[in-house]
Order: sequence, then C-alpha cells, then structure tokens
Amino acid sequence: MEELKNALNDKRLQVLTLPEKGRCLFTSRDFSPGEVIISENPYVSVPNKNKESPQWKCEWCFSLANLKKCSACHVVWYCSSKCQKSDWKLHRVECQALSKVDKERVKSLTPSIRLMVKLYLRRKLENEKVGSHVLTFFLCYMFPSTATENYKNVEALVSHISDVDEKQLVLYAQMANLVNLILQWPDSEINIKEVAENFSKLACNAHTICDSELRPLGTGLYPVISIINHSCLPNSVLVFEGRLAVVRAVEHIPKDTEVLISYVETAGSTITRQKALKEQYFFSCTCPRCIKMGQSDDIRESAILEGYCCKNSGCNGFLLRDSDDKGFVCQQCGLLRDKEEIKYIVSELKIMSEKASLSLSSGYINEAGKAYKMIEKLQVKLYHSFSINLMRTRETLLKVLITFKTLLGEVEEAVTSLTKAFDILRITHGIKTIFVMDLLSKLEEARAEASYKLRSQMED
Ligand SMILES: [Zn+2]
Ligand SMILES: [Zn+2]
Ligand SMILES: [Zn+2]
Ligand SMILES: [Zn+2]
Repeated sequence: MEELKNALNDKRLQVLTLPEKGRCLFTSRDFSPGEVIISENPYVSVPNKNKESPQWKCEWCFSLANLKKCSACHVVWYCSSKCQKSDWKLHRVECQALSKVDKERVKSLTPSIRLMVKLYLRRKLENEKVGSHVLTFFLCYMFPSTATENYKNVEALVSHISDVDEKQLVLYAQMANLVNLILQWPDSEINIKEVAENFSKLACNAHTICDSELRPLGTGLYPVISIINHSCLPNSVLVFEGRLAVVRAVEHIPKDTEVLISYVETAGSTITRQKALKEQYFFSCTCPRCIKMGQSDDIRESAILEGYCCKNSGCNGFLLRDSDDKGFVCQQCGLLRDKEEIKYIVSELKIMSEKASLSLSSGYINEAGKAYKMIEKLQVKLYHSFSINLMRTRETLLKVLITFKTLLGEVEEAVTSLTKAFDILRITHGIKTIFVMDLLSKLEEARAEASYKLRSQMED
C-alpha cells in the first residue's frame, strides 16, 4: 500500500482511508475540466461475447477486424501479430491450460471464468519472479510488478462477500470449481473459497470496457481506478481509449478534493440509481442528488426522466400517479391519463423491442431500423419528451442508421434524432461531459456524411 501511495503522490493524487467510506482518492493539486487525472491499463481483461454482442473480438485491443484464431488453443482471437505479442506473456500460460480442457467445455467458458483464470495465472507469474532465481533467467516472460501493477492492489479491493446472498454464493462456488478444473493446480496452490470471494470482488470492482459509442466490448479489472468512489453528481468521468481506462475531470477540481465518478447511468431517476447501486455495489448513495430523494425537485426530475407525457400533446407537464390509482395526473394541466391506455402502449412496446433486438442480433439492419422507428413513435406517445428511454431509443436508432450506412433520407433523419438526443443530454448530463462531447462530434460526423451523400447523388 505504501508503494502505491508514493506512486500516486507523483501523480499529485493521494489515497485516504476514511472510516465511513473506506479508501478514497483525493487530489493534491487543481485539475482543469477535461484534464486526465489518472489512467490505467487493465490488470487482466477479457472480451465480451453474449447475445447483445455476439462477435468475436481481439483478446488484447477488442477490435472486430482482421481476426485470426490462436492456432494452439483455438479459444482467443487477435487482430494483429502486435496484439498477439502484447498478450503473449500471459496467454503463453493461459494457452497451455486452455489447450488441455475438453473442447465442449471450452465452448461454454464465460468471460467471468476466463477473467478469473487470467487473474490467477498473472498472480502466479508475479510470484514466480519473486520466488525463483532460476526463473529470473526468463525475465522476458515475467510481469514487471510495479507499484500500480501488482496483485497486492487486487487484494486490497473490497469483496462485500458478507452481503452476497446464498444463491449467489453457491453460484460463485460452482464457478470457482470450474476455474480450478481449468488450472488443474494442486490443492496447495489454490483455495476454492478464495476464488469464490474473488468472483464477488470482480462483481463489484471490474469495469465494462466500452467503445466511444458506449457499446460494451469487454471486462477489465483496474485495481487503482477501483479506489475511486461513486457520486451521482460526479466531478470526473471514466472513459476507455481501447483497453486503457482514463479518468478525466468534468469540472474544475480544486486541490484536496475527492475524485468521484458515477458507477451507474447518471441520467436515471434517484430510485433507479439507488437500486442499481445497492444491487451491484451494496451501498446507499448519500450524494447531494440522492439526499434530495422524495423532495419536490427530485420527484419532478424522476417523473420527467422515467415518467409519462401528458395526454394533451401541447402540454409539457410531468405526470404523477393519482390517489385513486386510476392513472397518472398531469401536474401542469390536471388531465388524467388512464392506466389501461398506458398498459396497452407498454405491451405494444415490449413486442416491438423484442422484434428490434432480434433483427439487430441476426443482422437484419433494415428490419431493425424500421422496428426502432416504431419504438420511437410509440415512446413519443408514452413518455415525457425528455425521457431517458426515448433518448436511448434515438441513440440506438442513430447507431443502426449510421453504422450500417443506409439510405440518404435515413441519415438525415438520424441527424434530426441525434440533435434531439443531444438537446436532452445537454440538460441531463451537462455540456462538458465527455459523453456529450462525443455525441456532439458524432452529430458533426452524421451531418458531414449526409451532405457528402447529397453531393454524390447530385453528381450522379
Ligand atoms: Zn488487437
Ligand atoms: Zn492460445
Ligand atoms: Zn447519489
Ligand atoms: Zn398537461
């Protein structure tokens, strides 16, 4: 811990341990908006592969292009020999272990299991270096354990194992056994209980690595960045540049201030945020936004972000449940919106959403685009115009339309949708956040593309 403190001191940061919060990261100089506070490479990382993101990805950089399978284990993919080389120190030993595993079992390996296997292999490589003089001969294969890249930093992470319910504990134990089955280490080298506890550690500390459009690519453990605590009104933001995690200031941060990022989507209502924090991170947030829970400002904000719109399309009021439970009443014009009518649109939306995600995951882009347009239409009827759900749909619609480069008219529509999304985000997230700045640059890109297509069409 001393080593890490000294290393962070050089970056003008300090780790303090406060009785009610545990470890906290504080600044020891001023930081300007946009400035990098700290960046970190993952201690271990693994690409995602699931229903939402079914493509193979490069094991090192998460790229989707030019992938080649590792010819020895047939489990991991690389986009280039550069990435394969960078990963070789760890994959050398992982590859040996994976090659011995039954083919059918290898197919069922989840990213969490693979991440844990990698964590143990990396720890072993670090220890070997300390333990054996003979092995220092092979120093090129060893991990340079530095103050910031060291298993000790993983050890220092909280696991909240005592808060985990029994069902989950059983699952962690099963997962730990699977890890043991892959590693095939003697009992003296592995402790199943400790592996299970480490799964709990990953659940509340590992980060989802996203691309600039916030699409999830993989999972990584960043033990130093994990020291940073949560606020729903954060002064910093965590973004990823490839595999590198970067924490940037979103406002002026004076010396001796705690660095805070949000672990959950800040655009959610207080109840939604609190629920997510409790379920995944086991704490009740007491940030300036959360302590307002139940006050009129907070109720209004929640009803706008996640509530319904007024029956009168000209009215921009927010709705609250009426006392007789017949429906929802507009707080501006007093009009009641019937519960049954809302239920009907919600069920239509559900059917359409399933259709949309199915089309998207099967690669039917045009169908997906049509379905998301229908969803947008239904949501406009249902939700308040600043609703977070509507914003998400417009974002997805935009991605569908832009990423897959469809017809000119639709790109123009996407620009309109994006402009709307941007206006909403500016209010919920503030103009300065990286997310909003990213969106702004995407908007410019979309505009450029629309005008380019228009030009080439005119030339034709
Ligand atoms: Zn790569
Ligand atoms: Zn391999
Ligand atoms: Zn909060
Ligand atoms: Zn109204």
